[in-house]
Amino acid sequence: MDILRIFNVMESAHRIHNPFTPEKLATLGAALRLEKGTRILDLGSGSGEMLCTWARDHGIVGTGVDMSLLFTEQAKRRAMELGVADQVAFIHGDAAGYVSDEKVGVASCIGATWIGGGVAGTIELLARSPLPGGMILVGEPFWRQMPPTEAVAQGCEATAIADFLLLPDLLASFGRLGYDVVEMVLADQDSWDRYEATKWLTMRRWLEANPEDPFATEVRAMLTSEPLRYATFTREFLGWGVFALMTR
Ligand code: SAH
Repeated sequence: MDILRIFNVMESAHRIHNPFTPEKLATLGAALRLEKGTRILDLGSGSGEMLCTWARDHGIVGTGVDMSLLFTEQAKRRAMELGVADQVAFIHGDAAGYVSDEKVGVASCIGATWIGGGVAGTIELLARSPLPGGMILVGEPFWRQMPPTEAVAQGCEATAIADFLLLPDLLASFGRLGYDVVEMVLADQDSWDRYEATKWLTMRRWLEANPEDPFATEVRAMLTSEPLRYATFTREFLGWGVFALMTR
């Protein structure tokens, strides 16, 4: 399966490519008490909804880096639409190893921690960009409840139970890396539904528009199996949240 292509198809109608609603993203922006002019670096910025709405709502400035050309173009369009194109820039490229030229108030990686080879590696990468007293934001899954078997973890699209921690253990792991957790906003089952169920209608519409595409067989199979897989596994077992960290 071409993971990147199926991801681009399934999430082409998403503005937020993670289990947050616009309301939760706004809650997070308010929770961080961002000051006007705060500079934000966002690695794996997707369609740029976080930077664009926070630029509009809080007057932040920032840069997003993302490997998807489609999402990066969507991000630039969104910045124009919200009238913040002079505050935010979106770079199409690999964010692995990306460090900001100018120090930032907030360095984030929301739902893309493979960029730094896992949570710890991504925090280490992000930590190279903030000003003293700056913040790191990490968006990461955790187990809402421990999967009873490896098969259940794989049903949640994890490779193994060991991929994720329970929430208290995830918070403790930030402490062991030398960080205070100073804020967090968590997804819930309803916000997960917005992320996952949105893909189903997008796939259905894509199939109607592209019946002859060689990729259609895979998309058809996904649309058939996804609702049940999601309801059985991810919705019950997988949590997700954004954690704000400051060095101790
Ligand atoms: N933070 C965004 C997107 C999360 S989805 C949001 O919350 O909406 C993960 C994103 O990471 C995708 O947009 C994908 O294109 C991007 N990505 C994956 N690997 C990457 C890499 N090595 N460098 C930059 N972006 C990457």
